[in-house]
Amino acid sequence: MRNKLFTKLEGYYDEMVSIRRYLHQHPELSFQEYNTAKYIQAYYEKLQIDVKGHVGGNGVIATVYGKQPGKTVALRADFDALPIQDQKNVPYKSLVPGVMHACGHDGHTATLLVLAKTLYELREELEGTYVFIHQHAEEYAPGGAAPMIADGCLEGVDVIFGTHLWASAPTGTIQYRTGPLMAAADRFEIEIQGQGGHGAQPHKTKDAIVTASQLVLNLQQIVSRKVNPVESAVVTVASFTAENAFNVIADKAKLIGTVRTFKEEIRQFIEAEIKRITDGTCYLSDSTYEYTFFRGYPAVVNHEKETAFLIDCAQDVPEVDTIEETELQMGGEDFSYYLEKIPGTFFFTGAKPVGDHPGYPHHHPKFDIDEKAMLIAAKTLGTAAISIHNQ
Ligand code: MN
Repeated sequence: MRNKLFTKLEGYYDEMVSIRRYLHQHPELSFQEYNTAKYIQAYYEKLQIDVKGHVGGNGVIATVYGKQPGKTVALRADFDALPIQDQKNVPYKSLVPGVMHACGHDGHTATLLVLAKTLYELREELEGTYVFIHQHAEEYAPGGAAPMIADGCLEGVDVIFGTHLWASAPTGTIQYRTGPLMAAADRFEIEIQGQGGHGAQPHKTKDAIVTASQLVLNLQQIVSRKVNPVESAVVTVASFTAENAFNVIADKAKLIGTVRTFKEEIRQFIEAEIKRITDGTCYLSDSTYEYTFFRGYPAVVNHEKETAFLIDCAQDVPEVDTIEETELQMGGEDFSYYLEKIPGTFFFTGAKPVGDHPGYPHHHPKFDIDEKAMLIAAKTLGTAAISIHNQ
């Protein structure tokens, strides 16, 4: 069965490339992916595969039913692009000014469409049910995963797998990780209200710059002295604004920063600790403040059994030459929401371009992938999907 799947996928490789290149030329921003959603839906309709659009927004779900009973397995691909001007010099360069598939979501979509078609053609010989989740808006919080789940995309689903084409790893590499993989990425803002005044009469003011400066230093103690050193966390103050003339003491100061964590309890602790420290620091200078903590995606936490299973599946893919554990990634991903509901795993499929192309990081204006990685992603996801029923 697996070899049949592989042979069929290889036969459709050119189609995979042409879908990816079409999407690459026609990127759409998060929450505005109307034409991409239509394109995906039309692909399934043409094949007479059961499909549903407008799931939690622009999301699309397709379902393939195997003939024998088995588990219901979901595979997910995101399809939004980024507000970046494509600077590549290739025939399939983006045709939309200022918008570009700079994270490989075009490749994810091409991979999943062709895999779905292949499994549909093999449905008479398959066990279980296959749900293809085409998710909109991964790049922009609050993201598309949460509304798609609220709209029922995981109903009846037993297990989920997803991959990200990964330009920092060579083609042929599969990177996995059990437990936390990608961080929760949150943002905070603190606005300090002191009392301005003449630069020569500090005793009549409450200097917001001095208070905010103390606060920046006090916040350093959260990670260095409050969080258990065996855990990972980041508290970064990335912006400090308090503009005035040279002889005026600042009335207001504003700090903006980010918090990255892998565990919910540490995330909550840091959110509360920033408030406590701000409270104490402002008390000393008799100032007031406004504190807002904006929650991004929670951490992506992979399930142990499904990750071990995925490693086994990757070993059966002939083009995979390296299977390795990846480091923790401080970037965020809303695949986390699926893994909060059901077991599964999210992994990276190496897609570093070869030849004279040096390879650029994700979200770079010259970002590109090695398209052969799509076939490896399809084979790995496909193997996991058809083999999970015996687990
Ligand atoms: Mn991405």
